[in-house]
Amino acid sequence: MQIDELDWIVVSMSKGNAERVRLPRIRSITPFPHCYGIKYQHVQLIHNSPSQNKDVEQTMEVRYMEPGNPYQMAVKQVQSVGRLLGLNEDTIEGLCKPRRELTVNFPVRMDDGRIRTFTGFRVQHNDARGPYKGGIRYHPKVNVDEVRALSMWMTWKCAVMGVPYGGAKGGVICNPKEMSKGELERMTRRFTSEIMLIIGPQKDIPAPDVYTDSQTMAWIMDTYSMSVGYPVPGVVTGKPLEIGGSKGRDEATSRGLMYVVQDAARLKKINLKKSTVAVQGFGNVGWHAARLLAEEAGCKIVALSDSSGGIFSKRGLDPYKVYEHKKKTGSVRNFKGSENITQEELLESDCTVLVPAALENVIGQDNAERITADIIAEGANGPTTPEADRIFYEKGTMVIPDILANAGGVTVSYFEWVQDLQFFFWSIEEIKQRLKDLMTRSFASVNGISNAQNVDLRTAAYLLALKAVLRASEARGLFP
Ligand code: NAD
Repeated sequence: MQIDELDWIVVSMSKGNAERVRLPRIRSITPFPHCYGIKYQHVQLIHNSPSQNKDVEQTMEVRYMEPGNPYQMAVKQVQSVGRLLGLNEDTIEGLCKPRRELTVNFPVRMDDGRIRTFTGFRVQHNDARGPYKGGIRYHPKVNVDEVRALSMWMTWKCAVMGVPYGGAKGGVICNPKEMSKGELERMTRRFTSEIMLIIGPQKDIPAPDVYTDSQTMAWIMDTYSMSVGYPVPGVVTGKPLEIGGSKGRDEATSRGLMYVVQDAARLKKINLKKSTVAVQGFGNVGWHAARLLAEEAGCKIVALSDSSGGIFSKRGLDPYKVYEHKKKTGSVRNFKGSENITQEELLESDCTVLVPAALENVIGQDNAERITADIIAEGANGPTTPEADRIFYEKGTMVIPDILANAGGVTVSYFEWVQDLQFFFWSIEEIKQRLKDLMTRSFASVNGISNAQNVDLRTAAYLLALKAVLRASEARGLFP
């Protein structure tokens, strides 16, 4: 593994003051020749400093972590809960192995006339409970193990929510930031045609994920529809409203998160109107979460961050004003009336509710002890390591796991699909009410299992999910 293959690094400016830096901010990096393969190194790097708004050259200690294999982590999660359920190893293996994996290498004409070959994947993990469902990710580092893990997590998420889907995920290895809209459209259409065999409104329904959006879904829907000869809105979710998208999809993940935070607060007898919130990540999930928790749940937002760093204000931050500031300056930093803080300081800030809504693996053994929030609601997928989970369980911190806390997104995707299949569309009020009912029901079920079995909410959510998938498999029996 080389430094320039990583997504991010942790730069220690001085002892105890570490900052995660996304590589796109680093313009060039000159490691000392012997540095590859070890975890701490002094490297010389030139990066763009948002606070000084210029390139800064520094020699500093860089701690770079080899990212764990997400599929191995996903398998471990199933193995530990499977053993708790007394499942035999064959059954556990069956639950861990994706049913179908398609890898496609396909040509795309680029704007300069070159023909480049792209590699894409669609992994279908388990369809015992219904058609496969899961996003498509465009990223230079996407790989089949990552897609496998994400497809498994979709299976469990849908089972926890009781929505009748199995889990899938897709990805194309590409750098969308360096591609024109025309190139992205041609790549999307050709990829769709390559995976046409296994997707469809009754088979497998893709959705947006990292660096794909409603426009990408519109191209997939159109390509599929052109091939079969009639419009098929139900082949994807997360589409524009004009072609069968659902009201409320944009904020669905964060709205769902707010509902479970309200449930958790009631349980812990916390008055949200007197509570403070810190949100890591100010993208789709983080922005809507901050906005809804302030506006509808009455919380005071005290800390926010994006990839450039964080801000803190004891008196409270207005998410709308921060949004405008970020739109103007490109970052949340230097917002009037707030102090700039690091990502670590954000996570450890004095708050009632912490919402990690950016990256995976941000809360681990190193910082879990110092995190003082009463409730952690995982907007991101996989922000907390199993070691940190154990620490939180012992301290009494309530961690609402990702497969429940951020499941509002797939739930409203399900609503979109149902509306598409019926060609009958619901009002925003209906969407909100149905989402609230499902989130509240799932939170109550997971919490009930957690109390009955004396386990944390994550283990409880996995127990619920695995049992639901096994019951469906048993009911269907083994073919032939
Ligand atoms: P996004 O790309 O819209 O936003 C990501 C945000 O994280 C950006 O504000 C970015 O600046 C920030 N960020 C990046 N690096 C950071 C760092 N080092 N520290 C702090 N912030 C950093 O993505 P999103 O759709 O909001 O997704 C965020 C997370 O939520 C991902 O883990 C995603 O898988 C998960 N998720 C999203 C949805 C959804 O519906 N969008 C659903 C379920 C789960």
